[in-house]
Amino acid sequence: MKENQPLSGLDSAVTSDGAVAVARLRQYIDQSERLVFFGGAGVSTESGIPDFRSPDGLYRQKYAYPPEEILSRSFFNRRPELFFDFYRDKILHLDAKPNAAHEKLAELEKAGRLTAVITQNIDGLHQAAGAQNVLELHGSVQRNYCVSCHRFYDAAAIAASAGVPRCACGGIIKPDVVLYEEALDDETMWQAQKHIQAADLLIVGGTSLSVYPAAGLIRFFNRGPLVLINKSETAYDQKADLLINDGIAKVLSQIEVKPLISGGAAAAGVRQAGAGQAADDPPGK
Ligand SMILES: [Zn+2]
Repeated sequence: MKENQPLSGLDSAVTSDGAVAVARLRQYIDQSERLVFFGGAGVSTESGIPDFRSPDGLYRQKYAYPPEEILSRSFFNRRPELFFDFYRDKILHLDAKPNAAHEKLAELEKAGRLTAVITQNIDGLHQAAGAQNVLELHGSVQRNYCVSCHRFYDAAAIAASAGVPRCACGGIIKPDVVLYEEALDDETMWQAQKHIQAADLLIVGGTSLSVYPAAGLIRFFNRGPLVLINKSETAYDQKADLLINDGIAKVLSQIEVKPLISGGAAAAGVRQAGAGQAADDPPGK
């Protein structure tokens, strides 16, 4: 079980043996009290949600615009009916279920080890798995608001609508997702930065870290090991303490979650700090 042989460099952790890499990940997690997870599209693809940026053959027959254009604020304003056709077709995946990655992260939070999940995904699957402190950089399909009276609608209401979804008051119902040309939420970004700065272990999964704001946020981490878990290369591979080129659900499913030992003064202090931290965060954001 125990891996006594020291890992001399990154390459051995990557290529020599998947089991060695996972053993090292386990060790990092067992030593961590302020783990933060930062996830991208790869976390959701393992729940069967395809990345909308990789259009298939059928896509081109159906849509005359690239996804980035359809999902822009100006397109939403100009062609809302087309926006919602695409949105219901390609973005809403209400039948998707959390996978082993979502579940393990929720377990780590419950055990008192993980302080935040920061995600670029908008599907709400971390919360569906039971995670509490989820910072959704790009919003969530689970929240929708009338642009006129701000009445709330759930995702099922949007899925069941046809054409442009309308509120009882007549206003358009807009999903609470960050469209291209729209700014990210300042408070969410600030919370993400704060948690990364305080983290003693940062696990980045299912993202190539090539786009803003991911790359920018990672720079705030400087207190412990950086672990990258991604099927392909990322922009930060050279900076990682541990690099695992594999699916995030497969890797995290091999982790055993050990609760922080309570009883010791230090452990109690950490738990207190953890509780205070969680209370800082806006609930149900
Ligand atoms: Zn309304």
